[in-house]
Amino acid sequence: MEQTLSIIKPDGVKKQIIGDVIRRFENRGLSVKAMRMLQMTKEDAMGFYAVHKERPFFDSLTDFMCSGPVVVMVLEGEKAIALNREIMGATNFKEADEGTIRKDFASSIESNVVHGSDAPETAKTEIAYFFSSLDIMA
Ligand code: UDP
Repeated sequence: MEQTLSIIKPDGVKKQIIGDVIRRFENRGLSVKAMRMLQMTKEDAMGFYAVHKERPFFDSLTDFMCSGPVVVMVLEGEKAIALNREIMGATNFKEADEGTIRKDFASSIESNVVHGSDAPETAKTEIAYFFSSLDIMA
């Protein structure tokens, strides 16, 4: 069993597709083990995406991520990190496979509805960014 961090980004919350997104995770066998709605500050978003701080899209991305509420979740399942990314689809929705969240709901490369950890180490630090161990169900 593996855990990963999922975020429904501000565009997903505004589009009122929280339920659709969670339905897709649960349909594929991922379980929600922690969940919270929150609005990040610019500093929160900059800290979360610190790995991208030299990238040209960093300022716009961090503005976007704090532009409205998000839903943060811990998802658990077999190969949860890779499975979540498969369900999400490619970063650029134009390259995402049919039936993925980003293919169906994203409106730009930035406003692509969901975030998902990309490796075990990042999953660990990203989960700890939002949740304490007491928040996560066994
Ligand atoms: N992003 C962007 N422009 C780009 C690449 C990425 O605005 O050219 C945004 C997009 O919202 C993406 C996030 O930055 O989801 C993080 O990028 P990453 O390469 O880590 O993609 P992800 O892991 O989210 O698929």
